[in-house]
Amino acid sequence: MSYDNQNIFAKIIRGEIPCKRVYEDEFALAFHDIQPEAPTHVLVVPKGDFVSFDDFTQKASSEFMVGYFSAVQKTAALIGVVEGGYRIISNHGADASQSVPHFHMHILGGKPLGKLLP
Ligand code: 5GP
Repeated sequence: MSYDNQNIFAKIIRGEIPCKRVYEDEFALAFHDIQPEAPTHVLVVPKGDFVSFDDFTQKASSEFMVGYFSAVQKTAALIGVVEGGYRIISNHGADASQSVPHFHMHILGGKPLGKLLP
């Protein structure tokens, strides 16, 4: 699947659509999910043309990968979920119901999250 630079997260990174920003650096932008599925639900989006986790891990440089995953950790610390616990989810493709074709990780927390799948 080729990258579509008109996807909603590309527009958010470019500042064409607003977001509730939590953290930003050269590698990633983190912001609150518009339809939260837990008391805390933040998305961490890399600043690069990556369709999904699968695409990201094949194409991103080692330096970029480390920078991105570090941004995920910094975001989790900033939103205060480290002590209580949090879950990271990334959906790739149709069976996972990926809805935005720009790689992102969901950070979910703020309550006991129960089983991995409903
Ligand atoms: P996916 O299904 O691709 O793993 O997750 C996409 C997530 O993006 C969903 O949880 C959805 O609520 C969120 N989302 C979709 N459009 C927007 C938007 O315009 N702004 C924000 N903040 N989140 C969005």
